[in-house]
Amino acid sequence: MLDFKLAQPQQEAQQDADSGPDNQVYDLIIIGGGPAGLTAAIYAGRARVKTLLLTGSLPGGQTANTDIVENYPGFPAGIEGPELAQKFQEQAGRFGAQIVVDNVTEVNFSTRPFTVLTHGTAYQAQTVIVAAGAEPRRLGVPGEEKFFGRGVSACATCDGFFYRDKRVVVVGGGDSAITEAIFLTRFASEVIVIHRRDELRATKINREHALANPKIRFVWDSVVEEILGEQTVNSVRVRNVKTGGTSVIETDGVFLYVGMKPVTELFAGQLELNEQGYIVSDQRQRTNMPGVFVAGDVQDPLYRQVVIAAGSGAVAAIEAERFLEQHSQP
Ligand code: NAP
Repeated sequence: MLDFKLAQPQQEAQQDADSGPDNQVYDLIIIGGGPAGLTAAIYAGRARVKTLLLTGSLPGGQTANTDIVENYPGFPAGIEGPELAQKFQEQAGRFGAQIVVDNVTEVNFSTRPFTVLTHGTAYQAQTVIVAAGAEPRRLGVPGEEKFFGRGVSACATCDGFFYRDKRVVVVGGGDSAITEAIFLTRFASEVIVIHRRDELRATKINREHALANPKIRFVWDSVVEEILGEQTVNSVRVRNVKTGGTSVIETDGVFLYVGMKPVTELFAGQLELNEQGYIVSDQRQRTNMPGVFVAGDVQDPLYRQVVIAAGSGAVAAIEAERFLEQHSQP
């Protein structure tokens, strides 16, 4: 901790803000730059709350890695995920939030002002909104780590282009697996969806589109046991969970969509987490630590929708503003 320098809030970000006597302390730090964090920044900025948003390494969060978002209101024809993420950022910036692309490495919520550390900088704030999101779960099978980035991916939007006229495997049966399988048919000659049951978890509209797509083939009741290859992936070994039989399916790439896990390691011991690792909050997005709020997928095992993340970000920002009002020095 001694190596860190205390950050000075930027003048342009706070020019309209009434931030109290200590100009080294932000009113609000938002951890995470997905739809939840960016919406919180829009609300906080408009409320003239001196706000710092630390985005993590991917501004826009999962939305920035999504091909098309068809169910965010206001875009009747759908909108590309990266474009929606960009619009969120522009709007947050317009209302004065200071946006920094950096990863948080440590937090200290034991005393207020709270401290948030990134690589090399310590920031302080009277309130914090944790909107750190969720990350793709891994399968935990041999070959997965070895070939990650060399044939194994969790981002079709990033890597699908490399599989033009090739065969790829998608693992999973949820909305992510199915929407990304459909996306991959733009490039790949064949997309094989390997699902551990004989029924998809994905919503009806996505199921219908995938089942009607001639480039998509399904391998039901099956799990990937190993990812095989030399320099890059060339096949997967699959086990049928009903018969126990195994087979090898040739493929040039493996896309993993087996669900998400909340990014909460940083907060363990400081905030209450449930048994699945999600941050526990009340309806007002308050955590067990007064002054620390939470929004988006980091607290949502159920819905994980852009619109819901954005809504919870708005609630968290309104609550943070109220907290600041109630706790400001006379
Ligand atoms: P998800 O709904 O949790 O689905 C994960 C899938 O992976 C399930 O089919 C699950 O199988 C399978 N799976 C989990 N662990 C596995 C393992 N170890 N081996 C093999 N398969 C495994 O996750 P998601 O698809 O990422 O979706 C997350 C949320 O985002 C959902 O609420 C979803 O509706 C939402 N979303 C929505 C859209 C949209 O277009 N509206 C797009 C993307 C995501 P089981 O089915 O057998 O459990």
